[in-house]
Amino acid sequence: MSDAPPTSPAPTSATPSGSGQTPCPPLHAEGTDSKGQRLLFDRSLIYPYAFRHSYAQRHADAGTPVDVLRELMDHKSIAMTQRYYTVSLKRKSEAVAKLSAHVLDQHGHPSPSSSTAYKMRSVAVPYGGCTEPSNVKAGGQACPIRFQCAGCGFYRPDPSYLPAIEHHINELRADRETALAMGAAEFVTTALTAQITAYQRVIDRMNTHLASLPTSERAQIEEASTVLRKARAGDNHTLLPLTTARPKDPR
Ligand code: SF4
Repeated sequence: MSDAPPTSPAPTSATPSGSGQTPCPPLHAEGTDSKGQRLLFDRSLIYPYAFRHSYAQRHADAGTPVDVLRELMDHKSIAMTQRYYTVSLKRKSEAVAKLSAHVLDQHGHPSPSSSTAYKMRSVAVPYGGCTEPSNVKAGGQACPIRFQCAGCGFYRPDPSYLPAIEHHINELRADRETALAMGAAEFVTTALTAQITAYQRVIDRMNTHLASLPTSERAQIEEASTVLRKARAGDNHTLLPLTTARPKDPR
């Protein structure tokens, strides 16, 4: 499906005449006029098709994987969907610089790194950064212990992974309920509980750390997190870092 907007926007009247509908309240734009009255938003800029773009952009900003959004939008071409994930290299670099100072270890203790280390000596895996050298070399595709990151000394999450970690905790809880319902061996539920506890500790400490920061700093971190989530999600599952450290070609 094309995302080309319609050639002429829909009528802009807030109250269709004779419709019997309740009128929309006034919409305000930013700023005031010469009398100090709030400016009204130009309703001609609102038309139903614009909601389709907003819907897609919100998904991209939230880190919905590009192939999932492609399905949702019914795009024929992945290139069409990828337009919603466009992030400049400059914005990525700024986001990395911001978030590299707020990296934690697997216990939730601060483990800040330089921007260079974040980009070159770690790789994005589903629930955080990974610094295990062979996995970094493989672009995050070769975890030796099946992504059980919360129990791994190479795990380095940062605030951009908070939604993914929370989602994973919910998945682990659901798995544990299923295991209990199935009467699975105790070691299965014990292992799941241990993972839930470990991930929960990470996000509790991360949230405590974020809550201790000034509001403006938190807003910058959230903005940087949105940028990196979008960059990762738009990469069609080729996970960050922005560049992956690779050995030189053997001569
Ligand atoms: S479990 Fe360890 S090695 Fe594997 S991806 Fe997670 S952090 Fe990396």
